[in-house]
Amino acid sequence: NRSICWFRRDLRLDDHAALYHALKNSRAVHCVFVFDTVILDALSDKHDRRVEFIWHSLYELNALLQQHGSTLQILHGNPVELIPHLARELEVQAVFCNRDYEPLAVRRDAAVAASLSDIDFHQYKDQVIFEQSEILTGGGTPYSVFTPYKNAWLKKLDDFYLRAYPVERYFSSLAKSAPQAFPALALLGFLPGKLNVQALPTGASGAATLFENFVSRIDAYGEARNFPAVKGVSYLSVHLRFGTISIRRVASFAYYSGGAGGQVWLSELIWRDFYQMQLHHHPQLGQGAAFKAQFNDIRFPNEEGKFAAWCEARTGYPLIDAAMRQLNGSGYMHNRLRMVVASFLVKDLHIDWRWGERYFAQHLIDFDLAANNGGWQWAASTGCDAQPWFRIFNPVTQSEKFDGAGRFIRRYVPELAGCPDKWIHAPWLMPAAEQQRCGVLVGKTYPLPVVDHAVARITTLALFKAAVG
Ligand code: FAD
Repeated sequence: NRSICWFRRDLRLDDHAALYHALKNSRAVHCVFVFDTVILDALSDKHDRRVEFIWHSLYELNALLQQHGSTLQILHGNPVELIPHLARELEVQAVFCNRDYEPLAVRRDAAVAASLSDIDFHQYKDQVIFEQSEILTGGGTPYSVFTPYKNAWLKKLDDFYLRAYPVERYFSSLAKSAPQAFPALALLGFLPGKLNVQALPTGASGAATLFENFVSRIDAYGEARNFPAVKGVSYLSVHLRFGTISIRRVASFAYYSGGAGGQVWLSELIWRDFYQMQLHHHPQLGQGAAFKAQFNDIRFPNEEGKFAAWCEARTGYPLIDAAMRQLNGSGYMHNRLRMVVASFLVKDLHIDWRWGERYFAQHLIDFDLAANNGGWQWAASTGCDAQPWFRIFNPVTQSEKFDGAGRFIRRYVPELAGCPDKWIHAPWLMPAAEQQRCGVLVGKTYPLPVVDHAVARITTLALFKAAVG
C-alpha cells in the first residue's frame, strides 16, 4: 500500500507524528508540500519573509529526502483540489498529516477529507503537547485561566507525551524517486531578499543551531528574558511555528534537563498550548471576537494618523519606536516589547486592538493566529486571563525598567544615540540647552510625543468603564 504524507507546519523529518504513522503503515510514502494559493494570494508583500523561510526550510527537507532516495513533491495551488487529485494519480490508500487548529485550516482539512471520499485521511497531534480537550477543568470545561491550566498540564505530563517518534527506523518506506528540480521562489510569485538567513538560520538545521545556543544560556532565561537588549530568549518562535523543530524535543529538554531556567521556559511553551487550546474551543477568536464579550463594542476613536505613527515608528516614545523598527526591519519583536507596544496602541493611542493584531499578522515572521490573538487580547484586556483593564503600562516606566541604559533604544533609533541616559526614555523633557549639546532636537531630529500618556490614560479608563457598565 501507498500513502501521502502532507507537510504543513511540520517541516522536518525527525520526531514527526504523521510521517511516523505513514511510514509504519505503508510501503511507499510520498512526501508533499502545497504552497497554498488561498493563503499566498492574500499576502501583499512579494518579499514576504515567511514564504522565504518556508522555501529555505523545504529546500533542506528535500535535500534530506534525496539522501534517502526520495524527494519532496512541491505543489502550488489550492490543496482542497490538489491533494485529492494527487492521491488519485498516485493511487494511494491514505493521506497522513498533522492537525492544525486554526479555523481556516480546520475547514480546509474537512474539505480535503470529504473530497478524498474512499481514500483515508489520518490526522495526528504534533504541534502541541496537549491539544483540544486533553486538559479540562474538573467540571469538564476548557480552562480560561492560565495558572490552573498550567498546573493541570504539568500534572498530566509524563514521558509518554514527550517521547520522540522514531521516524528514522522506517525511512526505507519512503517512496523512491529520482531527484526533481526544486522550484525557484520566483515561480511561486515571491522574491527573496528580506530574510537575513545569517541572523535567522532556516530549516531543521537552523532550529538545531539556535536551540543548541539557547541551551547554553537557559540557566539565565528566568531573568534575562525580560531585557530586549540582552540575548536572553531562544528566538525559536518561527521554528516552532513552522515545525522545523519538534515541540516534544524542546519541552522534554526543558522539563528534564533545563534546571530552573528550563522550568520558566517550559511555562512559555505551556502558554503556547493554552492559546492553541483556546482557539480550538473558541474559533470565533479568529474572526475578531473579544474573548470577554462585554468588550466587543468599545468605541475606539481609531485615529488613522496615530495608527500610522505607531506603524512607522514615529510616536516620539523611544522604546515604542525602537520596538516597531525591530519588527519592521526583521519580522521579530521581543516579547516584553510586544506587550508594551500592544498596550500603547490600545491604551495610549485608543486604536482597536484588531488593527494591531492585523499589523502583527502581516509583519511577524513567527505569526501564529492563536498566540498573536492571545497576546493582543491579553494586552487589550479583552482576553481570557488578560491584564486587568485598569492596569495601563506606562511606556516611560517600562523603558526605564527594561532598557535602563537605553541600549536597545540606541541600537534601533540611532538618532537618539547621543542622548544622555537620563533623558533617553522621555527626550521631550530634556532642556533645550541639553538638546543642543547632545544634538537631539526634539520636534526636529526626533518626533515630539504623539500623545500625553497621563491624558490618554484618563480616556482609556473612561472607554473601558463604559464597556463594563
Ligand atoms: P522564548 O521566550 O524563547 O519562548 C519560547 C517559545 O514559547 C516561543 O518561541 C513561543 O513559541 C512560546 N511562547 C512564548 N511566549 C508565548 C506567549 N505569550 N504566547 C504563546 N506562546 C508563547 N508568539 C508567536 O509565536 N507568534 C505570534 O504571532 C505572537 N504574537 C504575539 C503578540 C503579542 C501582542 C504578544 C504580547 C505576544 C505574542 N507572541 C507571539 C508571544 C511571544 O511574544 C513570542 O512567542 C516570543 O517573543 C518569541 O520569541 P522567542 O522564541 O525568543 O521566545
